[in-house]
Amino acid sequence: MEVVQVPVLSDNYVYLAHDGDETAVIDPAVAEPVLAAAAERGWRITQILNTHWHPDHVGANLAIKAATGARITGPAGEAAKIPGLDRAVAEGDTVAVGAATGRVIDVPGHTAGHNAYYFADAGVLFCGDTLFALGCGRLFEGTPAQMSASLAKLMALPDATAVYCAHEYTQANARFAVTVEPGNDALARRVVAIDAARAAGRPTVPSSIGLERATNPFVRAGSVAEFAARRAAKDGFRG
Ligand code: ZN
Ligand code: FE
Repeated sequence: MEVVQVPVLSDNYVYLAHDGDETAVIDPAVAEPVLAAAAERGWRITQILNTHWHPDHVGANLAIKAATGARITGPAGEAAKIPGLDRAVAEGDTVAVGAATGRVIDVPGHTAGHNAYYFADAGVLFCGDTLFALGCGRLFEGTPAQMSASLAKLMALPDATAVYCAHEYTQANARFAVTVEPGNDALARRVVAIDAARAAGRPTVPSSIGLERATNPFVRAGSVAEFAARRAAKDGFRG
């Protein structure tokens, strides 16, 4: 599976996942740059996979469906809020892109029905706004216990899994992370690499499960209470 990252809006990433003669779009915020990225490569968009209902993840569902005939798969828990939905999926369901098989993982917390898509053979995770590089999504519709359990499910994936999250929030997340774990050497090294990447105009995404396990203050919280305290502190953080 080949993954192409399309930066759109101020900090969103839309992804093309290509395998065989199929291309899936993950979380299309907008249509034009996504259609252009596929056309450039001679790829035919056949599917859209949505992680959750927020407009910066489903905004171009109908436009891309109209342009390509793509079939839309999204979270069962948010089916009524996903424009043009053809197939509702939940934990244990699978999606196929060419010969690649993805497993649906329920990861509630940011929204109530949020999904992630994990392609084990490719070592690729599309996690929307649940897990970010050095961060996690805000709790708009879920509890700290739910989000904490969702992050734990993702942390059970292999270390080498590429984490394709939906926003470039890493530098701001890093400013908070170093206040939580000032003595974490792996984090300190990562922050240097992040600042260098951003100064050079490069993305800091994808991350990996192993890197998040070593440096992300939200997945490293020792209890739900500690997770809740860190999430609340980040919500009010002005670094
Ligand atoms: Zn969102
Ligand atoms: Fe988002």
